[in-house]
Order: sequence, then structure tokens, then C-alpha cells
Amino acid sequence: MIRPVAAVAAMAPYALADLGEAGMVSLAQNESAFGPSPRALEAGQAALASAALYPDPDWHALRQAIAEMHGQPRERILCGAGSMELIGALIRAFAGPGDEVLGTAHGYLFTAIASQQAGASYVTVPEPNLRVDVDLLLAAITRRTKLVFVCNPGNPTGTALPNAELLRLRAGLPADVLLVVDQAYGEFDPQDPTPVFDLVARGDTVVLRTFSKAYALASARVGWGLFPETVGGEMRKLLNPNNVSGASQAMAAAAMRDRAHMQGIVARTAAIRTEFVADLRLAGFSVPEPSTNFVLIPFASEEVARAADRALRSGGLLLRGMGGYGLPHALRATIGAAEAMRRAARIIAPFGKDIP
Ligand SMILES: *Cc1c(COP(=O)(O)O)cnc(C)c1O
Repeated sequence: MIRPVAAVAAMAPYALADLGEAGMVSLAQNESAFGPSPRALEAGQAALASAALYPDPDWHALRQAIAEMHGQPRERILCGAGSMELIGALIRAFAGPGDEVLGTAHGYLFTAIASQQAGASYVTVPEPNLRVDVDLLLAAITRRTKLVFVCNPGNPTGTALPNAELLRLRAGLPADVLLVVDQAYGEFDPQDPTPVFDLVARGDTVVLRTFSKAYALASARVGWGLFPETVGGEMRKLLNPNNVSGASQAMAAAAMRDRAHMQGIVARTAAIRTEFVADLRLAGFSVPEPSTNFVLIPFASEEVARAADRALRSGGLLLRGMGGYGLPHALRATIGAAEAMRRAARIIAPFGKDIP
């Protein structure tokens, strides 16, 4: 009999994303409705001419673009096939059987899966009022805790912690616990990221970002992060060599340099989101204040959320159910084009009357 290792045998089958039916508008995966920079597409096309060659294993031009645009030392930057690859490698490098990875109740689901893959225990603390609570995280640290993951702004809550709270968290953590701040939605957060980026210099903190959301390059599969030198050295042992295709590296580098395009996506998203949230609140929903390209919509109950989901699907709109995130009474709506969001708000509004 062919048997997997114990950690893998214990895992549930991987649930692929529900893509709905052909012709539906997907508001389910936090993809950008506004498209990547035309310069990124041009650079990707040009790079295809070198498709016969392996890509740059050191992501030279891409790291240079990231370093310049963010004013960070290039040595600290590593790139992954999506930030998911970086999350997986971080956990494999620093936690194994008997170790704990600490996260929050509604944190990013892939962190739990990657912990299982490594045979480590994934432990969570509650998020009162759908917000990360630094004191609860600090109180949950044990001798077995190896990594702490905070998604900020949060997915699926959409809420953002002030930078000062992240600094307070780091100051309160033991020196041998690695803090990972997942800023997949960082570009949508109006806070200056510098104080959080600066934590990396301490040697015990990693900050992750991605091209999948604000840069509208989800299909390119490019994530990056700022890593202390010693942590980066361990990561390089685990990342696949040539992990990011040449076309993807070229697209990401050009997208990073086209700051105006990214800022345009962020501004358009925020404007449409403001209108959508106002419509929902008017209908009686208490929507947590979002700093992301999506909105969490809590319904009166799981049944009402399901009924709303059915109505939305009949209207050609696919949202994401939040049962997997411990919020079965909620749906998450990616901010899409203005017209789609008005349609979504019209369909959802009648379900607001059930809110107590
Ligand atoms: C989308 C997302 C990511 C990024 O995933 P990629 O692998 O870079 O596409 C990471 N963390 C969170 C919380 C996300 O929502």
C-alpha cells in the first residue's frame, strides 16, 4: 500500500476555488477588475521571446524595481511564485512537528494549510469585532510558538491594524519567534508602510506582499517579501530555483515601476467600495470598515447568507462564502466594476431587513 507521510495523510482534500458558471462575474477571489499596467503586458510579451531559457533565479531586475520603488535594500527582497510559495517556505523553514504557528481566527486560510503540510500545529486567537487583537496574540505565545502570522489589512475581515499596534506586537514577542506580516492588501491601506518595513532590520520580522491584488497580476503568480538576511538564507534553501517565470518577472518589474497605474487601481477601487459600503449600510448591514479591495458582508444567519448567495448567483454574480474562515453567516465581495457592485448591492439590500 502506498502511504503519504502522516502530516499529509491527516489533511483534508484541497478545496479548489468555485469558479461559478461561464458568464458569471466573479467577485470571489479578490482579483482586480481593472487590469494590469499596459507596460507590464508589453514587457511580458517581449519576455516570451526568451521562453526557451530558464528565468533569472535571482530575480535581478524585479528586485531592483521593488527596491527602488519602496526604498528598501535589494538584499532583503526575495520573490516567490505568489506569496503563497513564500508563506509555505517560511513555515517549512521554521516550524515542524511539535511546533506551533500562531494566527488569528479569521486569518488567511492558506497559513493553516501550509502549517499542516509542515506537520506543525496551527493555533488561532479570536478577533473581537473582526479585528486583530495584539494582547490576545501575546497571551497565546507558548514555548512551542515559532511563527506568528498577522494579515494586515486582514482577509477576509478587510480591517487594518494601526502600524503602532504591529510595533507593539513585535516589541512584546520573544526574540526567537518570527513575526510574519502578510500585507497582500498593503497597497490599499492608506497608512505609510515604512514603520512596518523597518521592523525587518531587527532580524525577527518578515513582511510579505504580492502582485496579485493591487497590481492586477494574479495569473502571473508573483509575490515578494522583505526578509532579514539570515531568514532569507534559509528561505533560499527551500524555494524552487527558477520559481518565477521570465514573463512573470518582466511583468511584475514593469508593473512595479508603473506606480501611477497601481495608484489608479487603488483609487478607483476605493471610490467604488465607498459607494458599495454606503449602499449596504443603508440597507442595515454592519460592514466592518475595509482597507482592502473587498468587503465582508455579515448577514443575520448562515441561512440568510446562503439565500443571498443563491440570489446573487441567479443574478450572475459570484461572491465567496466564508464558512472556511469561521464566518458562515458572511459573504465576501471583491470590489469589481461600478456597475457590477451596484447590481450586487441591489440584490443584497433586501436581505438587510433580517439583521437584528
Ligand atoms: C491573495 C492573498 C495572498 C497572495 O497570494 P498570491 O500567492 O501572491 O497570489 C496572500 N495573502 C493573503 C491574505 C491574500 O488574500
